[in-house]
Amino acid sequence: MAQHPFEQFLSVFVPKVTQKSRQLNKAVWILETTGNADAADLKAELDAELRLLYNDRKTYKKLLEWDKDPSLKDPLLKRQLNILIRSYKQNMIPPELLENIVQKEAALAQDYANFRPQVDGKVLTENEILEILKNETDLVRRKKIWEASKEIGQILAPQILDLVRLRNQAAQAMGYADFFQMQLELQEVDGKWLKKIFNDLADRSDAAYAKVIAEIEEKQSKMFGIPKKDLGPWAWGDPFSQEDPLDRSDLDSLVAGIDINAASHSFYQKMGLDVRPILERSDMYERPGKNQHAFCINIDRENDVRTLNNVQNTIKWMETVLHELGHAIYDLGFDQKLPWLLREPPHMMPTEAMALMAGRQAYRYEALCHLVGHSEKKEPLLKKADSSLQRRQLIFSRWVLVMTFFESELYKDPQQDLNHLWWSSVEKYQKIRMPPGREGKNDWAAKYHIGLAPVYYFSYLLGEIFASVIEETLIKLTGSAGLTSEKAGKFLRQKLFYPGNSMAWSQLVEHVAGQPLCSGAWIAQFAR
Ligand SMILES: [Zn+2]
Repeated sequence: MAQHPFEQFLSVFVPKVTQKSRQLNKAVWILETTGNADAADLKAELDAELRLLYNDRKTYKKLLEWDKDPSLKDPLLKRQLNILIRSYKQNMIPPELLENIVQKEAALAQDYANFRPQVDGKVLTENEILEILKNETDLVRRKKIWEASKEIGQILAPQILDLVRLRNQAAQAMGYADFFQMQLELQEVDGKWLKKIFNDLADRSDAAYAKVIAEIEEKQSKMFGIPKKDLGPWAWGDPFSQEDPLDRSDLDSLVAGIDINAASHSFYQKMGLDVRPILERSDMYERPGKNQHAFCINIDRENDVRTLNNVQNTIKWMETVLHELGHAIYDLGFDQKLPWLLREPPHMMPTEAMALMAGRQAYRYEALCHLVGHSEKKEPLLKKADSSLQRRQLIFSRWVLVMTFFESELYKDPQQDLNHLWWSSVEKYQKIRMPPGREGKNDWAAKYHIGLAPVYYFSYLLGEIFASVIEETLIKLTGSAGLTSEKAGKFLRQKLFYPGNSMAWSQLVEHVAGQPLCSGAWIAQFAR
């Protein structure tokens, strides 16, 4: 049979994209592990070149024509066409505007990587800030540190707003109301559905969260010896109150003396997976100039998958290492016979679901016994960790609701009083009041994702919702929600990883769980 012109197009186009994206990913890796300025330039150039490959109006028109061609029947070809149309569509903005956005994002990324606030003449890393918020008993000093963590927002807000304007300009040139709406549609997410599932989850978990916040404030009030109303967000253990502040040093003591890499390796081994090659390629420890967060990157969609971490001996870093390895095993689990364009997750949501499910294991009794070992002495702490999971989930879900609501409103109207919008969202969902002295600040801009990973955060909560659905499915299959069995590993590989992007994320959910995504399993697990 003669080749369809689309196949001919693919045979020329795909090798170009394959090469360019591999180069880009390597530049990203050098930049993120060193903060090097040349790498930042190189990354910006390659990013622009890659986007330009998707910037040809003639090709875009052809893709749309092929999309209507009834002789193109092969589902894998049709899916590649669908992916390309969406990729081209978001790059159909004027090349100058595109270039401008890429350059500004690169500059912003570098400023984020290099910023360290100073308190009393001492430069602080993010890990040091978290460490102080975890252990400091003096509320005055906590407040100082918390305020220092917001400084970056004040400095970078104008740059971020500039980007928001440019992103909206691009979206409007494409016929969308704003950048948020465009991103959702290009990611195959129905905005109305998203709003509904999140509002519904917020309502159904409100009472459970109210209990959690009461418990937290009660304990904080006792610990610091002041009335609840005087506490302030600096009483929490992190700058955004996005993580469980209770029992932190207790739970960290579980990880004392544990080699987190080795523990993670043997954990995944119980699923029938060898993560040693990933760990060998990864960059695991803190260094000046290095990105202070954590991520996983698939360099070539072959075998080169790496993670970046800043590991310390805390339960949070145990969770994070397991999380990033969750992404990595997903990326290594695609059917290698799939065409290059389909060797990716259909959306960030399912790979987050895998990563979040792996991260949950750092708190679940059964898995934790494997990870840190069991002893008489550890028993009460293991139980404490297990019961903290519900609290953690409720707290984190509220944080995602804040981020998602704020972002949708930010792109709808960037001119409004954003600091007010930020704190009123925090009050509504997190039930935390704006402390005095924050009027006129830009606290929203201190969150990395607002500037540099826009319209992404909602994937975390959808991922948690899907993770609960998968756990429910695993219980039916293996009798346990735990991942530490070869049966669980096999199920995830075959059902979740293997299809790659050969189907839309909503179809993948049905492929794995036999039903569309809904929050019932998450509510049953965490909001009862
Ligand atoms: Zn992740």
